[in-house]
Amino acid sequence: MEEWIDLRSDTVTKPTPEMREAMARAEVGDDVYGDDPTVNRLQELAASMTGHEAGLFVPSGTMGNLAAILVHCRRGDEVMMGARAHTFLYEGGGISSLGGVHSCQILEQTDGSLALEDLEAHLRADDDHEPVSRLIEIENTHNRCGGVFQVPGYIRSLAEFAHARGLAVHMDGARVFNAAAAQAIDVKELTEPVDSVTFCLSKGLSAPVGSVLCGSKEFIKQAKRIRKHLGGGMRQVGVLAAAGIVALEVMSKRLHEDHARARLLAEGLSEIPVVRLDAGTPVTNMVFLNYDESVQLREFEVEDKMKEFGVLVHSVGKRRFRLVTHAWVDDAGVDRVVEAFRTVLM
Ligand SMILES: *Cc1c(COP(=O)(O)O)cnc(C)c1O
Repeated sequence: MEEWIDLRSDTVTKPTPEMREAMARAEVGDDVYGDDPTVNRLQELAASMTGHEAGLFVPSGTMGNLAAILVHCRRGDEVMMGARAHTFLYEGGGISSLGGVHSCQILEQTDGSLALEDLEAHLRADDDHEPVSRLIEIENTHNRCGGVFQVPGYIRSLAEFAHARGLAVHMDGARVFNAAAAQAIDVKELTEPVDSVTFCLSKGLSAPVGSVLCGSKEFIKQAKRIRKHLGGGMRQVGVLAAAGIVALEVMSKRLHEDHARARLLAEGLSEIPVVRLDAGTPVTNMVFLNYDESVQLREFEVEDKMKEFGVLVHSVGKRRFRLVTHAWVDDAGVDRVVEAFRTVLM
């Protein structure tokens, strides 16, 4: 199959022609010395868009979250986060193995938020037996909760709640631009109230590599030191940052198209009798599909059969798929995916 339609994730997006041009032209320097003008531009742009003083280009969202948590927390401190948070489930336990940071998992509400009552109930007492509550991490959009977004009002109350108790808030905003696009608001409304935020350039924003961590000047200074410890100090990395600038200036403006295509996909799939979609899906660029017991196919068999139609999908549970739309999936692609599922499952 020549042209795959790849719905496994929005991480599969490739750099756009405009990015490749910007990459070829990028002015570079040694970023460990702070000498890469393109990295500096990206960091300033990210900081101004998120409403923070400074930004730090990091190789991955995982490193961004890790560096942030290691700045906020000392060994033995506790970070409260969702039980289905990416940092808890999918970042190798790095905060514990590398930072000695303890996590307290709180079951998310169905909208992916952490209830303030639950946070209050899990706050640690000033007692030698207990770790020190130091940080709250919120994921926006929340991947495992269905690509759902948080609203500005909630983020503000969460930050107020935390600050009143001497805690900081870090946002794992890997897809925070999707959260903003879904609400047709400026991303700043979601990111300004928190103490730090990480977002990915390499997902819906289509850059080949990288994330940016934003926060205060002092916070970023410390995060930069930790990035170096983690082996994330990169040299003439302006070639990557150049793609990141296009991601922010151009690609962040088109994410609503991915959301519209996710709705189109859900509409098509919902007409297949053996398919059940999660209630309310999609909220952003993810459609969650389940198929009936009457279908005699295992998940990997569905994956294999879909490949025969040039479609790549990835199962995320028993009889369950997460389908992610992105800039490389067009309307015709959506139709092809619906027809492929209909043929494979029926
Ligand atoms: C992708 C993602 C990350 C970071 O992932 P990397 O692959 O390390 O860039 C963090 N949080 C969430 C919610 C994500 O989806």
